[in-house]
Amino acid sequence: MTDIESIFETMRNALSAGPVRIKEAVDEGRKIVGCYCAYTPYEVIRATGAIPVTLCSTSDKPIAAGEEHLPRNLCPLIKSSYGFALTDTCPYFHFCSIVIGETTCDGKKKMYELLNRLRPTHVMQLPQTYATESIALWKAEIERLARRLETELGVTITESDLKREISKRNTERRVMGDFYALSTLNPAPLSGLELNLVNEFFKVSFGDEKALELVRELTKALRENYEEGERRVAPRKRIIVTGCPTGKSLEKVFNAIEENGGTIVAFENCGGIKPNYELVDETRPPYDALAEKYLGIPCSCMSPNNKRLDLLEKLVADYHADGVVDIILQACHTYNVETFLVRERLKIPYIAVETDYYQSDVEQLSTRMGAFIEMMN
Ligand code: SF4
Ligand code: SF4
Repeated sequence: MTDIESIFETMRNALSAGPVRIKEAVDEGRKIVGCYCAYTPYEVIRATGAIPVTLCSTSDKPIAAGEEHLPRNLCPLIKSSYGFALTDTCPYFHFCSIVIGETTCDGKKKMYELLNRLRPTHVMQLPQTYATESIALWKAEIERLARRLETELGVTITESDLKREISKRNTERRVMGDFYALSTLNPAPLSGLELNLVNEFFKVSFGDEKALELVRELTKALRENYEEGERRVAPRKRIIVTGCPTGKSLEKVFNAIEENGGTIVAFENCGGIKPNYELVDETRPPYDALAEKYLGIPCSCMSPNNKRLDLLEKLVADYHADGVVDIILQACHTYNVETFLVRERLKIPYIAVETDYYQSDVEQLSTRMGAFIEMMN
């Protein structure tokens, strides 16, 4: 049997080595472009030869610095990301030539105005419906991004550059999709904490083929070992996590679920299935295909956002879920308001938990998740 633990260890090491790899890339002449949202079309950035990096912070450390310019009652993701930029303590932000934002929620779009003082910030005007007219607007915004990057980075993006990067990114989505599908097995072959580790590893893979190969290797090994009878995770209540983007500081919620009788079988959030379950249509002209795919991401900033409800319903069936946990970051109004519709649509136990990046509610989360899972029994 393949040693699964050594693959996870390699992934953990890669997480901490991410900043060094970015510095080495800069030393070799590569440009770094910062992104804050799943709506950012990575393919366009990669078509310039630059490396897109995710800057959304999930650390509580820079929040106090962020609050020097931003209101306290704002989403921790925004305050933390801005705090990192303000204090120049995020190695990824440090190396960015330009950062890309989108007009998703109010807090983020206003924060970008301040961020532009620290680093050139290109804001894409995101239409907030899936209507046909919106696709034309979004296509124009993607083309405007391409022109800005060409000017800023001194390159020309050709159609074949774009097609190549669309194909590569689709391959990445397929590899992650195959990996996610493992957790449709019952009992699941891996824990939610391990699922999250692979999601985090994917974020710092920077398009590296070797990193993708490691995910393929892990998927193959987990499936083969499972077929040979290995059961790494005991049968437990199967939980889908949805809601705001997750990360390091929110592992407290995952722990609360998994230490109280649950196993997380899917993360619907950004950083998980939501931005990856649909591919870019490689038979269509690149900008049209990118606009259609990216506008279809079911974030709560879309109104209406029935696609998220449909996706959740499908995931509940595919992953044989027993319950859904909706993570709401404090002051995230769009995801918070949407909890009503999610609860109404889902036919299985559902709980929404409002939290932030601090660890002061760890015990309270444990009690709530324990009661939620106990209720399913
Ligand atoms: S939740 Fe919405 S705003 Fe936040 S990263 Fe995802 S798509 Fe962007
Ligand atoms: S979690 Fe909500 S409030 Fe925070 S950046 Fe994302 S959409 Fe905006």
